[in-house]
Amino acid sequence: MNPESISAVKNLLNSPKNIVVIGHKNPDGDAIGSCLGLSNFLRQKGHHVTTLMPNDFPDFLKWIPEATDITTYEKEAEKSKELVTNADLIFTLDFNALNRTGGLQGLLEIAKAKFVLIDHHQQPDDYATVIYSDVTICSTSQMVYHFMDALDGLDFLNSEIATQLYVGIMTDTGSFRFPATTATTHRVIASLIEAGANNSEIHQNIYDTNSPDRLKLLGTALNNLVILPDYHTAFITISQEELNTNNFKKGDTEGFVNYALSMKGVVFAIIFIENKKENIIKISLRSKGDFSVNEFSRSYYNGGGHTNAAGGRSHLSLTETVAEFISILPNHKEALSI
Ligand code: 5GP
Ligand code: MN
Repeated sequence: MNPESISAVKNLLNSPKNIVVIGHKNPDGDAIGSCLGLSNFLRQKGHHVTTLMPNDFPDFLKWIPEATDITTYEKEAEKSKELVTNADLIFTLDFNALNRTGGLQGLLEIAKAKFVLIDHHQQPDDYATVIYSDVTICSTSQMVYHFMDALDGLDFLNSEIATQLYVGIMTDTGSFRFPATTATTHRVIASLIEAGANNSEIHQNIYDTNSPDRLKLLGTALNNLVILPDYHTAFITISQEELNTNNFKKGDTEGFVNYALSMKGVVFAIIFIENKKENIIKISLRSKGDFSVNEFSRSYYNGGGHTNAAGGRSHLSLTETVAEFISILPNHKEALSI
């Protein structure tokens, strides 16, 4: 964090404030972990803080300390509206464009509060008074640790915050294996463990929670895998019917796309998941090396993210979306060569 941002934030926090801390729609481990960690810290500093999410999050994140305190716009629209309207300060974490907040977008656009953005995605929008953006950091949760440090606040690091931030760092780094995992990440992790994060228990709570339905859905997904060797690309489709047959629950498809990327010679993997309720195809993109799925998703899927992990959506049917994808690939043949 640069010195100007640090002093600007210190100024904003120099008296007790009404604060709302917000994560993105379909919050993942990093959104939940970073928002809860920051909220706990700010509360200890004497502020009135609410953690707000646009919609619900998967069961495998519900055990996280203080996760039950989260207000969800989709369930409590009136309360959420009041919170946003009455806030002095709004922290937005793990996203950098207000269109990532679903139904909250309109409320945020007219809020009188000052905004502080903490995020590691590429190309932040310009809506915040203070912007702490760093695309080299593996997770927003690690940034919250640096944020506390910059405010001389590491004395406030308790076992709840340690656990919350550990979840965010672990999930966004694929358990410490993606390239953005650095020596600093491991030093931060060491300090979280010293502060009370139980690494082994956290790992089990997140990853050893498979239901038979989820494993069957994974089987279906892997059966649908298509490999396009000319483009070092693999894709997976899951239809609404396949989701229904396997009693789909939120979070069940998390990580499926990584199986496609795990094949030797594949540098680009993509999963298309039909969502009849929202009338969209939800798309997750992953890559290895220089091929930017952030750019790809921005160009074709009204989305974005990072160089090697991004998301987006299509408004065509599942079949049309796949046909369009296959027709686009020749334009990227060179970038996809290895
Ligand atoms: P996932 O595929 O797991 O939903 O998302 C992968 C990464 O891309 C995450 O860091 C997520 O925050 C980001 N992402 C997902 N969907 C979108 C989107 O629609 N817009 C932008 N800008 N980022 C997204
Ligand atoms: Mn993140």
